Amino acid sequence: MKVILAKSAGFCMGVRRAVETTLEVIRKEDTGVSTFGPLIHNPQVLNLLEERGVRVLREIPEKESGTVIIRAHGVPPVDKEKLRLAGARIEDATCPHVVKVQVIIKKYLKQGYATVIIGDRNHAEVEGLMGFAGSLGRVVSNLEDVNSLQLEGPYIIVSQTTQDETIFEDLSQSILKRFPGGRVFNTICDATHKRQEEVRSLCKDVEAMVVVGGKNSANTKRLAEIAEDMGCPVFLVETEDELDLEEVSKYECVGVTAGASTPTWMISRVLRILEAIPAKGESRLKQYGSRLLWFLLATNIYVSIAGGALTYTSEKLQNNVPGASHFLIAVLYLFAMHNLNRFTDRKLQKFNDPLRTLFYEKYRWPVLVISALSLGLALTLVSENGLKPFLLLTGMSIFGIFYSVRVIPRAAITNIRVRGLKEIPGSKTFLVAVAWAFVTTLVPALSDSRIPDLTTLAVLLFVLVLVFIRSALFDVFEVQGDRIVGRETLPVCIGEHKTIYILHILMVILVLLLLLMPLAGFMSGVSFWLLPGIVYIFGLTQLYRKGMITQGPKLEFCLETVFYLLAGLAWLAKV
Ligand code: SF4
Repeated sequence: MKVILAKSAGFCMGVRRAVETTLEVIRKEDTGVSTFGPLIHNPQVLNLLEERGVRVLREIPEKESGTVIIRAHGVPPVDKEKLRLAGARIEDATCPHVVKVQVIIKKYLKQGYATVIIGDRNHAEVEGLMGFAGSLGRVVSNLEDVNSLQLEGPYIIVSQTTQDETIFEDLSQSILKRFPGGRVFNTICDATHKRQEEVRSLCKDVEAMVVVGGKNSANTKRLAEIAEDMGCPVFLVETEDELDLEEVSKYECVGVTAGASTPTWMISRVLRILEAIPAKGESRLKQYGSRLLWFLLATNIYVSIAGGALTYTSEKLQNNVPGASHFLIAVLYLFAMHNLNRFTDRKLQKFNDPLRTLFYEKYRWPVLVISALSLGLALTLVSENGLKPFLLLTGMSIFGIFYSVRVIPRAAITNIRVRGLKEIPGSKTFLVAVAWAFVTTLVPALSDSRIPDLTTLAVLLFVLVLVFIRSALFDVFEVQGDRIVGRETLPVCIGEHKTIYILHILMVILVLLLLLMPLAGFMSGVSFWLLPGIVYIFGLTQLYRKGMITQGPKLEFCLETVFYLLAGLAWLAKV
C-alpha cells in the first residue's frame, strides 16, 4: 500500500519540550517527580513515564517535597503558587506559545480588558488561561455560546492554541458583530496551523487518512474532523492495534498524520503495519521480496553480510588480496553479537522496533542457539589463522557478551547511576564501532601475520569513524523511544542537532581521510572511489531531516546498504 506521512506528524515543540524537561528531571532525581495533571494527552507516553516513577497529581497536596512539573498546557497562576507553598520545587514546562497567550491576557487585564477565549471550556489549557483572565474571562466554543455571551467594556479575543483556524475566524467575526471594537489575537500556534493545513492538502492526494493520537487529545480529534470535512474516510487510532486492517486495506493510497502529543515511535509502528499491507495488484515477486528483506533485517543477516563487505573494502584500501575466511569470520562474529545484544536489549527496543522484539520473543531459542553456533564457528575459523587473532576475537566476544551485565548491583551501592559499561552514556555507539573496526581490519591483519602498520591504522580509523556515524545515526532516528525508556545514547545526552552536527564533522573527516591518506601513501587509490559512499550517508541524513524518510525497516535497509555500496565501489576500482 502506498502510504504518505505528513511531514509535521509527531511531537510539536511544546510537547517535546515538556517530555524532555520531565525526562531530564528523572535523570537527575530518582524519586519524587510528579506532574500536575497529565503531562500531555497521550496515554502510551504517560504509561511509560509512570513506569519510570513519574506520579500524576490530580489535586494540590498539602505537603509536597519533590519536583512538580507544570504540563505543556500551563496552569492557573494561583495553582502554581499553591504548589510552591506546599513545598514543591516547580519545573515549568508550559509551552512558550501558551505562555505568550497568558502574557497577552495578563497585559490587557491590567488595562481593564475582558478576555474571550475561543476554545474548549474543559481543556486544560483553557482552564489555565481562565486563571489568568480571572472574573473577566469568558469561554466561547460555538455559536450558541456567542449568542449567550455577556460583555461590558473593552475586551480581547484569543484562541486556544490548538483551535481550528476556520472555527476561530467564524466565531471571532460573530463576537465582533455582537460586540464591535474587540481586539483579536489569533493565538493558534504555528505547529497546529501547519498540521491542519497539511491535512487539508494531503486529503486531496490520498483516499483515506489515518490519524494517530490520544483519544482525549483535542488537536488529534481536530485533525480527524478536518479530514472528515474534506470528505476523506478517517481512521482515528491511538495505537497500531486499533487499525481496522480489513477496512483500511480497501484503499490503495493512505495518508498518515498524528496529533502534537503522538511520539514518533508510535507513528512508526502504525506506518510499519500499513506499509506491510500489499498494494492492490502488487506482484507476488514484490511481496516475497519485501518479506525476504524484512527477514534479512530482523535476523541481522543483512547487517552481518554488510560487515563482511566492509572487510572486503578494508582489504582493498590496504592493497591486500581480500580473503574469503576474513569475510566469513566478520559475518559470523557480527551475526552472533548483533543477535545476542539485540536479544538482551529487546525490552528496551520494544518501542522503537516492536516487530523485532516480537520476533525475538517468538524465536528466542533458535536465535540464541544459532548465534552461539555462529560465534563458535567464527572462533574456530580464526583459530586456524594463528593465536593472536584468536585471542583478539575471543577477548572481543567476552567483552561483547558481558557488555550488558551490570557489574555493580543496586543493593551494593545505591547512589550511583552507572552500574555497567552499557550504562555509560553513548558507550554502545563507540564500542560497536570499535568491534566492527577490529573484526574487519585488525583481525584480518593479524590473521595474515602482518604487523599492523600505518596503513592498517589509517584504514582502522576510517572504519571506526564510518561505523560510528552509522550507529550514531540509528541513535538519532530512535531518539524519542530511547529517551522515554531511559537509554542514554549520544543524541539523548547532547540532543539530535548537536549529534548530527558532530556526525557531519566526522563525515568531513572521512572525506579528508579518503583524499589525503593515499597521497601520504597510507591507503590505496581505491579510497577516491569510495567518496560517493560518504555523499550517500550525508544524503540520508538530509532526507531524514526533511522528513522524507522515516524510522523503520526502509531506513535501516538504506543505512546498512552503505557498506554494500562501498564494497561495490571498491570492486569497481579494481576494474
Ligand atoms: S500544539 Fe502548539 S501550543 Fe500546544 S504544546 Fe504544541 S507547540 Fe505548544
